[in-house]
Amino acid sequence: MKNRLLSLILLLLSLPAHSQWFEKEFEVMGTIARVEFETESEQKAQLLITDVIDEMNRVDQLMSPFKTTSELSKLNQQAAKHPVQISDELYRLLQRSAYYSNLTQGAFDITFSSVGYLYDYRNNKKPTKAQKESLVSSINYKSVKLSNQLSSVKQSIVQFKNPNTKIDLGGIAKGHAVDQCIKLLQKSGIKNAFISAGGDSRVIGRKNGRLWYIGIRHPRNKDKLIVNLPLENTSISTSGDYERFFIQDNIRYHHIIDPKTGDSSRNSQSVTILAENSVDADALSTSIFVLGPVKGMALVNTLPNVSAIIVDINGKMTVSDDLVNAN
Ligand code: AMP
Ligand code: MG
Repeated sequence: MKNRLLSLILLLLSLPAHSQWFEKEFEVMGTIARVEFETESEQKAQLLITDVIDEMNRVDQLMSPFKTTSELSKLNQQAAKHPVQISDELYRLLQRSAYYSNLTQGAFDITFSSVGYLYDYRNNKKPTKAQKESLVSSINYKSVKLSNQLSSVKQSIVQFKNPNTKIDLGGIAKGHAVDQCIKLLQKSGIKNAFISAGGDSRVIGRKNGRLWYIGIRHPRNKDKLIVNLPLENTSISTSGDYERFFIQDNIRYHHIIDPKTGDSSRNSQSVTILAENSVDADALSTSIFVLGPVKGMALVNTLPNVSAIIVDINGKMTVSDDLVNAN
């Protein structure tokens, strides 16, 4: 009996440590972020949670248009006056933004902020008609000149060709932060995890052996889901006109700006994109929102490994060809 008890204890000791799930929600980039993952040790989990929070805050310090000391603000203060040297990380994100501007014929345009900075959704403020008319021509991604100079050291340089150019990476930076945090977890051996920042989420592996389920909310009813998607190793990003908005004279003014008009884009209520990583899903959800359901879906259907669920301005939902065939 004693021997059996002893061998049972030895057997238990030789089994791998039992994994547990850990989760944390926190505020960053003016939104709620969430991390959830599986690991064996409480101590390792707490360290990783701290690393994830630090990483999201680091990206925010670099790219926030509201922090006057961010690298992005430095560009907005100086790049119209003279060339500015920036970090490779910011440079790569500017290159990715330019890629999406070209792909979407300017629907994605970080210089939307040349007019966009005059909106304040919390305080129901928008630019006057005159301000919009005088600044809308300054929305043009081609004014952002990127150059990589190879002298003794590599230098990443940016210059704005228009004195009124302002940039804002709000349509892509959260996706970047999510990708960075997933990379960080993967480096530490985490196989099953979920990370989100606002409407941008990415999952790796599974949740307790099952697929992850991520719901997309109804754009006009926050308590209702339009679909609940089973996912594995995917990024999912939703852009919606309900995230930051105010209504004045029956018109909804929200944070996704049509670069052609400097006004809120009113072709869609929400656009959800599935892609392999969050930078792409984030940039595409904003872009397709602006392109609208017809042009937007046509573009998505040409992109490999990208799916979309679009709710148009009248509340009608359509899905990309690959999802139709999946049903
Ligand atoms: P998301 O919630 O990812 O769709 O991003 C919305 C954010 O993207 C806004 O808060 C702006 O910071 C930024 N944005 C708005 N309009 C555009 C646009 N046309 N192109 C690129 N970024 C935009
Ligand atoms: Mg986006």
